[in-house]
Amino acid sequence: MHRFLKITLILFVFLTIAGVGLIRFVLLAHADLKPYEHLFVDQADQAVPGEVRVTYAGVSTMLISDGTTNLMVDGFFTRPDILHVMFDKVSPNDRVIDRGLERLGVAELDAIFPVHAHYDHAMDTPIVAAKTGAKMLGGKSAAMIARGAGLPEEQIVVVAQGEVHRFGAFDIRFIESVHAPVATQNAMQPDIHEPLTPPAKAFAYPTGQAWAIVIGHTDQDGMRHQMLVQGSAGFVEGALDDENVDAVFLGIGGLGSQPPLYQMNYWNETVSATDPQKVYPIHWDDFFIRLSEPLKASGGPLNKFSDGMDFLLAEAEAEGRTVHMMKAFATVLPFRQ
Ligand SMILES: [Zn+2]
Repeated sequence: MHRFLKITLILFVFLTIAGVGLIRFVLLAHADLKPYEHLFVDQADQAVPGEVRVTYAGVSTMLISDGTTNLMVDGFFTRPDILHVMFDKVSPNDRVIDRGLERLGVAELDAIFPVHAHYDHAMDTPIVAAKTGAKMLGGKSAAMIARGAGLPEEQIVVVAQGEVHRFGAFDIRFIESVHAPVATQNAMQPDIHEPLTPPAKAFAYPTGQAWAIVIGHTDQDGMRHQMLVQGSAGFVEGALDDENVDAVFLGIGGLGSQPPLYQMNYWNETVSATDPQKVYPIHWDDFFIRLSEPLKASGGPLNKFSDGMDFLLAEAEAEGRTVHMMKAFATVLPFRQ
C-alpha cells in the first residue's frame, strides 16, 4: 500500500509537471519582437484637430476617434490569466476596465462593437458600453452577452450585413466574415440564444457572427477615408472585393500556423482586395498577460508569430504597402498620407 501511494504520488507530480510544461510550450511561448522593432510606431503627438487616430490596447481592442466621436472595437481589458481561462470561470474585472479606459483617455464612447463573440473580444464589451454610454453593436450572440451583463435594451443594436450605422462623421458597416480556423473554434458553439452572464467558462463564449468591419470617416473638407478592421484571420471569398480602404487593421492570430495557401488566400481576400496603403497587424499578443505589462507576441505552435509576420512583410513589399505595428496604448494615424 505504502509503495502504491508513493508511485501514485510520483506519477501525479510527473504528470503535473509535464502538463504545465506542455501548456507553457503550446500557449505561453513567446516570439522575439526584436526583428520587428523598427515597425513599431506611435504618432500620438502628430495628430491634428479632427484627424482620425487609432489607439491600440492589445488583441483587437482599439479606440478610434476624431476628437469629437469615439468608437471602440472590442474593449477587452480584463485579460484573465491562463489558469482561469483553462480551469475556472472568467468575468469582467471592473477595476482593470476602468484603468484601461483611463489609459486610453476616454470616458465617453458613442459606439462599441466586438469583432465576434469570443471572450477575448466580447466579454468586457457590455461593461465598457455601460460605463461610457456607448451603443453596443454586434451579432445576435454579442447581444446575448450584452443582455447577460444587464446592458439596457436601448443600448443594444443587432446589426445586419451591409447596414450603415452613423456616429458623428463616422459610418460603420459590418460584413459577414468567418473566424480563423483555430483548434479552439470548434470547441465553441457557433451561436448562443440565451443571455450569457459571467462568471462563465471562457469556452462558453461562442464565435457567434464574425465580422469584417469597414469604418468610414468624412472630414470637414468632405474628404472621405475608410479603414477595415479584420479581427480574426478568416475570410469569405469575394466578400471584400468591392471595398477600397486606406488602412487595414489585420488580425494575424494563428495566421503563421496556417498552411501557405491559406495565408495567401487570407492576404488576397483581405488586403489585396481592399487595396490599403497601410497594414497594421493586430491580435498578435499573448492575451493572458495583463495590459499593465508590455505586450508579448505569442509564438507557440498554435500561433507562429514570426512566420505570419515574415509572410505579410514579404507580400506587403511586393505590393508596395507599408506595415506598422503598435505597442499597447500607441496611437496611429491611419489616414495620414
Ligand atoms: Zn476568436
